[in-house]
Amino acid sequence: MNVLIVYAHEEPKSFNGAMRDTAVRVLRETGHTVEVSDLYVMRFNPVGGKHDFTTLTDPDYFKYGVEQTKASEAKTFAADVAAEQEKLLRADLLIFQFPLWWFGLPAIMKGWVDRVFAVGLTYGGGRWYSNGVFKRKRAMVSLTTGGGPTIYSPTGLNGEMDSLLFPIQHGMFYFLGFDVLPPFVAWSVARSSQEQREEYLRAYAERLRNWRTSETIHFPSLEEYDETMQLKS
Ligand SMILES: Cc1cc2nc3c(=O)[nH]c(=O)nc-3n(C[C@H](O)[C@H](O)[C@H](O)COP(=O)(O)OP(=O)(O)OC[C@H]3O[C@@H](n4cnc5c(N)ncnc54)[C@H](O)[C@@H]3O)c2cc1C
Repeated sequence: MNVLIVYAHEEPKSFNGAMRDTAVRVLRETGHTVEVSDLYVMRFNPVGGKHDFTTLTDPDYFKYGVEQTKASEAKTFAADVAAEQEKLLRADLLIFQFPLWWFGLPAIMKGWVDRVFAVGLTYGGGRWYSNGVFKRKRAMVSLTTGGGPTIYSPTGLNGEMDSLLFPIQHGMFYFLGFDVLPPFVAWSVARSSQEQREEYLRAYAERLRNWRTSETIHFPSLEEYDETMQLKS
C-alpha cells in the first residue's frame, strides 16, 4: 500500500521529526511504500492563487474554485500543485504530522490543503463524504501539543481535542471520503520526560503497525441526513 506523510516542522531534530522518522521506518518495515512531503524543505508555497494554474479561463475575474474545476478537467495545475495531487491520489493512507498551532494546522499545512484538495479533482458533483473520491482510503492526524491532556478534556480550558480536530478530520478528510483513523496525540512533548517521549514513539509505532485493520471514527453517512443536510431523527 502507498502512504503519504505530509509533514510540517522546520527542525529535523524536533519531536515531530522523530514521529515522522518512526512512521517512515515502521511503515516500510511492514511492507508499505512511503512518500513524505516535507513542506519546509520543499519550501511549499501555502498561498493559493492565480499561480496555481498554468492558464486562467477568465483572466478578468479570478474565481479560485472555478479555476480549480477547469484545471482539474484540463490538467493545467502548476507543477508544484500537480505533484502533490499525484501523491495524494496514489495514497491509500494519508497522514498529517504537525505541531498544534493556534488550535489547528500550521499555515504551511493549511495552505497545502487549500491548494491540493482542489474542487473538481478531489470533490464536487455529489462526490463528498460517504460518496467521496477517497472512499475506502484512510487518513489520520498525528500531532504534538504544548498543553497536556486535561486542558483538552471535555471540560478543559482549551476545549475538547476532538472538537479542535473536527475541521481537519471531518471538514477535510471525511469531506473527501476518507475513513478517518483516531488521532495520535503526543501531549506536551517539550515538558514530558524522556521516558514519556520514548513511550509516545513506541505507541505511535504500534498504532501504525495496525492501520489497515484499526477501527475508524464513526461519521454518519450521507443517507443519514435529510434534504436540509440535517441528521434524520
Ligand atoms: C505559533 C505556535 C502556536 C502554538 N499553538 C499551540 C496551541 O494552540 N496549543 C498547544 O497546545 N500548543 C501550541 N503551541 C505549542 C506547540 O504545539 C509545541 O511547541 C509543539 O507541539 C512541540 O512539538 P515539537 O516537535 O516542536 O517539539 P520539540 O520541542 O522539538 O521536542 C520536544 C523534545 O523532544 C525531544 N526529542 C526529539 N526527538 C526525540 C526522540 N527521538 N526521543 C525522545 N525525545 C526526542 C527534543 O529534543 C525536545 O527536548 C504553539 C506553538 C507555536 C510556535
